[in-house]
Amino acid sequence: MSSVHHETASGSTANLKADFTSTGRRESPPLVIVEGFLGGFGTQTRWGDFQNHWHDDAAAGDPSRRRRAIFVSVGPVSSLHDRACELFYALKGGKLDYGAEHAAEHGHATQYGRTYVDGLYPDWSNESPLHFLGHSFGGPTITKLQWLLKTGFFGDEYGADMLLSVTTVSSPFRGTSIVYLFGERVDSAPQVRFFSVGSFITKVVHLVSYFSPWTATHMDFHTESRAMSLYETSPWSMLKQLLKSDWGTSRDIAPFDCTYVSSDTRESLGEGEVNGKTFYRSYAASWSDMRAGTFTPPSKDFWEEPVLYYYASPVALFDFSVLRPVPSFVELMGKDIEIGGEGSEMYRENDGVVPLFSQWHPLACKRTVCEHFKHDITATPSEEPRKRPEAGKWHVYELHETHHGTIAPTWRDSPRQRGFWKELGEYLRDIDDLTPKS
Ligand SMILES: [Zn+2]
Ligand SMILES: [Zn+2]
Repeated sequence: MSSVHHETASGSTANLKADFTSTGRRESPPLVIVEGFLGGFGTQTRWGDFQNHWHDDAAAGDPSRRRRAIFVSVGPVSSLHDRACELFYALKGGKLDYGAEHAAEHGHATQYGRTYVDGLYPDWSNESPLHFLGHSFGGPTITKLQWLLKTGFFGDEYGADMLLSVTTVSSPFRGTSIVYLFGERVDSAPQVRFFSVGSFITKVVHLVSYFSPWTATHMDFHTESRAMSLYETSPWSMLKQLLKSDWGTSRDIAPFDCTYVSSDTRESLGEGEVNGKTFYRSYAASWSDMRAGTFTPPSKDFWEEPVLYYYASPVALFDFSVLRPVPSFVELMGKDIEIGGEGSEMYRENDGVVPLFSQWHPLACKRTVCEHFKHDITATPSEEPRKRPEAGKWHVYELHETHHGTIAPTWRDSPRQRGFWKELGEYLRDIDDLTPKS
């Protein structure tokens, strides 16, 4: 039994029913927002007043049809599997179930987590699908959710069509070099170096979870299925976990799911393939270009993101040759993966966290359906003809001189952010218009 019971799913701005508006028309499908690594501590206010900038039906003269945004809080350091399960049950409601097989294989103390007495959107179904937006690790969380739905993990009545659209910003679909800089061992992930950022974060998670009965709810690591609190584990066991964390060095945690080996494993199963009825769009950001073997973000951005500024260059210059097992793209590129190699730029240019190629979509281009656009629709939305949304295909937009936090999650009220939300709102309306109204 879990010791944590939440009355409602945390982190929502939503009403609890997918209801009809005062005019009797069904509301526009809400947009579900999933944050990235270490995101989701109930801090959605930092996303700002984006809803005043997107164009929904309210802006088109029907004030009763304002699109809702639903923030869902999922485990900030949890694996894709765990986060996808939390996302599902937070929306549908019910007792969080990670699956007996998964729980046994990955060392959960119990297969169950908290109970969502009221789901954030209980009417969610194949016939009543939702729009999804993921920033960073939120993107692969959403595609993992679609994979679990497709493979019947939650039951046969739920399927991949429950995702009407998937929009991602700076998402590490195919892994990122930064997790190795943070502590994952290059030759033996999920083992983690003791003196590393990753190891430090794991220690914080153990400590916060141990004292979780006393800590504020905004420090919610969603660890109740792991029996880490002071009611469930002894101080001695907790100290042993601080020295070497079973969870932190397992395959069931976010940093491992951001390794190239984890991505290759998922892709070998076909995870991430497009669903014919879902509209996909990604924004892939790069802070600078690789020129003459160097990667230099604009110095004006230093104070905006000093930590990412520090990591951008090591991510660009990462030595892929030391990775074991050898990632599929490294094998494919051969010698050209080295700095200066033909076509190596897309594996090296990055937004301070994620290489460009990884932000496009799951799977290599030749294994999925995609179209890439070079122009930046957040900067100059009006100069290019708007591309009609297409289901079953990724539309990839590259954003240049853009870092991991330019668009989200922190609201800066910048022209880029206002442009992003305005354009996204129009895109979601276009999709709504293409799909039959119930
Ligand atoms: Zn798990
Ligand atoms: Zn592609």
